[in-house]
Amino acid sequence: MSAEAPPDHPQRFDAARWSDASSRESLQLIAASVAQMVGFEVAVISAVHGEHLVSVAIEGDADVRATLDGMLTPMANIHAELAVADDWGRFKFVPHERALADDDYRWIPDIAPGSDADSWHPMDALLAPLYDEDGELRGLLSIDLPISGHRPDPTQLGLLERYAAQAERALLNALERDALAQRLRLSEAARRVVRFAVSQADVEAALDDCRPALLEGYRADDLTIRTYPDDTVGSGGTPSISVTERVRAQVRELSQACWGQQRVGVLTDDWFDDTLLDEHTARTLIRVVVDLGFRSAMLVPIGAGQRCVGHLILFRTDRAVPWTRDERDGALDVARDIGHAVLTSRNLAREQRLVSELRALDTYKTRLLSTVSHELKNPLGAIAGHLELVGATPDLSEDTQFSVSAMTRATTRTSRVVEDLLTLAQLEDPETRETGTALDLRPALSAALESVRFAAERRQLLLRLDAPDGPLPACGDEEGLERVLTNLLGNATKYTARGGAVTLAVTYLDDQVEIAVRDQGIGISPQDQERLFTEFFRSTNPVALAEPGTGLGLAISSRIVSGYGGRITVESELGEGSTFRVLLPVPTP
Ligand code: ADP
Repeated sequence: MSAEAPPDHPQRFDAARWSDASSRESLQLIAASVAQMVGFEVAVISAVHGEHLVSVAIEGDADVRATLDGMLTPMANIHAELAVADDWGRFKFVPHERALADDDYRWIPDIAPGSDADSWHPMDALLAPLYDEDGELRGLLSIDLPISGHRPDPTQLGLLERYAAQAERALLNALERDALAQRLRLSEAARRVVRFAVSQADVEAALDDCRPALLEGYRADDLTIRTYPDDTVGSGGTPSISVTERVRAQVRELSQACWGQQRVGVLTDDWFDDTLLDEHTARTLIRVVVDLGFRSAMLVPIGAGQRCVGHLILFRTDRAVPWTRDERDGALDVARDIGHAVLTSRNLAREQRLVSELRALDTYKTRLLSTVSHELKNPLGAIAGHLELVGATPDLSEDTQFSVSAMTRATTRTSRVVEDLLTLAQLEDPETRETGTALDLRPALSAALESVRFAAERRQLLLRLDAPDGPLPACGDEEGLERVLTNLLGNATKYTARGGAVTLAVTYLDDQVEIAVRDQGIGISPQDQERLFTEFFRSTNPVALAEPGTGLGLAISSRIVSGYGGRITVESELGEGSTFRVLLPVPTP
């Protein structure tokens, strides 16, 4: 057992799943042509696959194919053979007397050795190593059993050279396509996982959806995905494989170590990585893998950032398919995507929980507002009534009269706050909230202007309406709109110094109508503008604070307008003035 990359100790190789059909066909054609045109019964093209050489095209009889198909020849044997070969140009010839003594990895023709010096001996081997552009050995073209019964003559050798060059090109092409197909499979698996990651809140469903893509992409026979329990979401995944708690804890520890080192962990039925695992744990885990009916497993840690949040284990029953470097690297990428999916889901779940808590709180607040205001409304009415009675009593002393009018003012103010609170509670209740219908704006505009006219005159403000002639269609309800406009005009009047101007302007934009309330008042700082529409907000500006107010007017106005499908915006500069714009949908005719 070693600490290096996992060995592939496969027993058979499935050439039918290697590269693609057209590459396999062209290699087969070359092997057949070599045999036929040069006069040999057997021609084999093989490819280097990890630590082995595997046959990818075999020309010969059924016996040859039965022996060589799927056979994995250790590369060490090939190197040993090439080291003792005679150099015949592209081809290397290993005469029978130098053949490896105990070579189980070859097909030996059933012929008697000839007596001539150039007779072909059953143990003779003629091979052309096939290299890539970097000079790396990628495969072999080997031929056997000359029809003439003799070693090839110079003419045959010349022909063989050409075929070797052709075989080399075709093999490199097929290898490239094999690598490409593998990368495509992996990136397809990754792509699908990423798609699920962004579109699914439910972590278990997302992981379940990943299963087929992962099984196919990784040519795995089974897989198990587990996410470790979190405060908000329990563990998820597809534990098609059940193991004991102890084994689960060991796997979790291993997964955390793998995530720390950003690598995967591979186990086969007779190999483990001793830099990751101690012998005892490794033996336990190997036993589990074998007991489950598999021969190799790849553990992929699932994580995001520093945290390992789960693991994915891919199983194979066939050791002949090794976990390639591309697969190991690709698996880590996929696991990162799953990790993000897990975290996204958990964050979404957390957010959803918070949102429902906030909703519950909001409902409670609305109910409280409504109950308290109702409870205050009646006693306030009684107080106001009695104050009126007391105030009308003849011969009140000056002090008593002063107290009665102070109490009347305070009661009026308190009643206004209670009224506003009740309105706010109504607006927050979807059942009582107005959604608006088609109407003409003009009556609401006139009523609002009328209600502030007296205050404006008292401050010598110029009050102007700037609107197109004719009806002014908009969506809303008259009472609500009047309330909004009265509030905005009231503020404009309240916060504008004597002698200024307040304008109410109506403009039609595409499918909206804009009602702008413009003043030349004290203005609102950018910080205050951000909180302007929240309940009870009053400016920090001492000039504004000197004016009476509840801080509820704009909160109410913006809720009314949003009920109609519109909104209110503000533009303001300190000392220059403010413009509040009410944007409303225009009804379609
Ligand atoms: P209220 O006027 O009753 O206090 P509002 O919700 O209508 O409540 O306004 C909130 C705050 O916004 C006011 O206290 C004031 O500080 C500021 N504000 C509103 N309108 C204007 C305006 N036109 N110019 C300056 N400040 C304004």
